[in-house]
Amino acid sequence: MTNRTVAFSKDSSNLFFHILTKCNLSCTHCYINKNQHGANTLDIETIQNWLTLFSKKARQTNIIFLGGEPTLHPDLYLAVKEANRLGFKSITIDTNGYLFHDILDKISCDDIDFLSFSLDGATRKTNDAIRGKGSYDKVMEGIQKALSKNFSCSMIYTVSDMNIHELELMPNIVKHLGIKRFFIQVIGMRGKSSEPNGKHQVSKETWLSTIPKVAEAIADHGIIVTYPKVFLAKNEIFQCAGNVADNYFIFPNGRVYQCPICEDFPLHSYEIRQNQLIPTQKINEKDLFGLTIPEGCVMNKMIQPQNLSYNKKGDPEHQIACCMLKEEISL
Ligand code: SF4
Ligand code: SF4
Repeated sequence: MTNRTVAFSKDSSNLFFHILTKCNLSCTHCYINKNQHGANTLDIETIQNWLTLFSKKARQTNIIFLGGEPTLHPDLYLAVKEANRLGFKSITIDTNGYLFHDILDKISCDDIDFLSFSLDGATRKTNDAIRGKGSYDKVMEGIQKALSKNFSCSMIYTVSDMNIHELELMPNIVKHLGIKRFFIQVIGMRGKSSEPNGKHQVSKETWLSTIPKVAEAIADHGIIVTYPKVFLAKNEIFQCAGNVADNYFIFPNGRVYQCPICEDFPLHSYEIRQNQLIPTQKINEKDLFGLTIPEGCVMNKMIQPQNLSYNKKGDPEHQIACCMLKEEISL
């Protein structure tokens, strides 16, 4: 079993491209905040122009098409074709499983690297209570349909206090499913999860006693598992991805963030206007990336300090890692 921390690098870039914010579901933890991200759907010409803006480093850049639900966009297949034409390193579509507009008939398994399905419970009851009635079956059907057409599939499980009790059932569920990768996400303090009745983070103790163990059990079945580090060990050095990596989170209103947990605030580093990528004025997220505090991530301390704990001397017991720092386990 190989267990490694995926190091940040400026040599490789990730483009998380929200081509719309519309969705057919209304998940209890949805991170989309239309007040901040807009409610528009980008037309295909705009998508093509915005892809071109990031194409200089295409060969080093992974694209993830997101929404809302990206398959609700009737021209998603054309966006995929354009990303291929521009030579991007890899292309992933994140989906809730509904696979609208016959997307699997309009692209082939050679056009994309992964279709990533979101499932938030090992049982219909738990998943559907979070993601909506019928969504469990849709994901399972969608995976089988995609596999029958030779697409590579992965799964995303967003952990919260509503579903962590079922994570231990997932190794048995995924072992015969045919997925190649399994991503465990931590519920962020964004969108609905930042509302007073939407706070469903799990405690440090629960996280540390559950996640690495389940990740290993899933990896035992030959599936590559990725999960956020969250709590740094004493010997690990804190790094802010905003300083040492190259990630862009693009929204249909033109905002471009480099830190996902800034997305609920007008702190974006760039804005796309008239198809130009324009740096924003101070104060923006870049001003936070350079701050050094003993607790690690500055944004974490500002918006979710409940995951911090201190010893008697007042020092933090753990530094909180950048939310983009991941552990990867494989056989
Ligand atoms: S599927 Fe995604 S975009 Fe749609 S409601 Fe759920 S979390 Fe939000
Ligand atoms: S999550 Fe924290 S450490 Fe990571 S980019 Fe944002 S501010 Fe920096």
